[in-house]
Amino acid sequence: MKPVYLDNNATTRVDPEVVSAMLPYLTEHFGNPSSAHGFAAPSRQGMKTARDNVAALVGTGFADEILFTSGGTESDNTALITGLAAHPGRDEVVVSAVEHPAVLALVKRLEAAGRLKAHVIPVLSCGCLDRERYRAALSPRVAVVSMMWANNETGILFPVEALAEEAKAVGALFHTDAVQAAGREPIDVKRTAIDLMSLSAHKLHGPKGVGALYVRRGVKLEPIVHGGRQERARRGGTENVPGVVGFGKAAKIAGPRLRGDTARMRALRDRLESGLLGRIRNAMVLGASAERLPNTSAIVCADAEAEAVATMLGREGIAVSTGAACSAGSHEPSHVLKAIGTPVAAEFGAVRFSLSRETDDDDIDRALTAMAEIVARLRDRAPCTAEGRSSRPREAAYA
Ligand code: PLP
Repeated sequence: MKPVYLDNNATTRVDPEVVSAMLPYLTEHFGNPSSAHGFAAPSRQGMKTARDNVAALVGTGFADEILFTSGGTESDNTALITGLAAHPGRDEVVVSAVEHPAVLALVKRLEAAGRLKAHVIPVLSCGCLDRERYRAALSPRVAVVSMMWANNETGILFPVEALAEEAKAVGALFHTDAVQAAGREPIDVKRTAIDLMSLSAHKLHGPKGVGALYVRRGVKLEPIVHGGRQERARRGGTENVPGVVGFGKAAKIAGPRLRGDTARMRALRDRLESGLLGRIRNAMVLGASAERLPNTSAIVCADAEAEAVATMLGREGIAVSTGAACSAGSHEPSHVLKAIGTPVAAEFGAVRFSLSRETDDDDIDRALTAMAEIVARLRDRAPCTAEGRSSRPREAAYA
């Protein structure tokens, strides 16, 4: 039976058109874009076209505002370091408790080294940012604010345009991690006060290991990769030309399709959610009342451990995830679930379904049927009281 892939927030399949666009840059157009001879020209042109396409996807008319990186993680790291360097007299950073580890791990490390004071803003039980705590943390001591556009585990959207205005009012730089939003939400960065924005190609049917940082003109980028003068001396290292070309192609495909694709994904996702809630008692959708990405659904089922559900779905050929890849494998609830604080989610975890433009009705039907059966089987097999769960060997849930 055809496998069902519903883990598109982890990564997406590379679009065949993207593969075709990349191939010549692995074969005949192999020149180094920095070389002085003719072999450089196609590589340089490929990079230029890609930069224009990525710029267009996020609504900037200035292609020089796009800095290519090795992906979302490097973009997030570069943004924070840039924000800190921009204001030598300021040493505070404001982030949300549900940021990706690409933000939180660096902030923690710099704080431990005494280089900054972090304000980690909690979320409310709906998954929305605590706006009062956010406003209270903003002051002229804040160098940079980093608030994600869309959460990778729940799909919950933060009102980044309003948050950016508030950060700018105290003179801080504003960064948003838009890795999960690009290609799934309309982005028109020029109409916002956002200074820095992270993107990653592999979340929008592009290749892995390539991303971008949008850097508003006038913001002085602080490089974190030192070496040659590539990317206008903002990032050393010979460019990943095939990857960048693939990213550009993925952006070019995603832009015009966005409206239709998101409407289709939302309809499928809503059908999945209503079907699951209709078939499984004591199930809930995390962040159901919040604004969310059209493709993401984090489902919590009382008395059915998410990890066990995901493993059993996997055996039926249905790929889902129980949290961010970095927390998969750990039996702790993810930092996002902890931050949201819903006791049943913290106890049993959440199964994340994440759709793409390739998801179809058949995928949803298979997921619905399998999930309802699996949860029923798990509940029948071992009544999962908190007590029973902690004393039962974990393997029992997977048997
Ligand atoms: N930020 C978010 C919200 C993500 O979901 C991810 C990847 O899962 C990243 C950053 C890291 O991106 P990359 O895998 O390109 O380093």
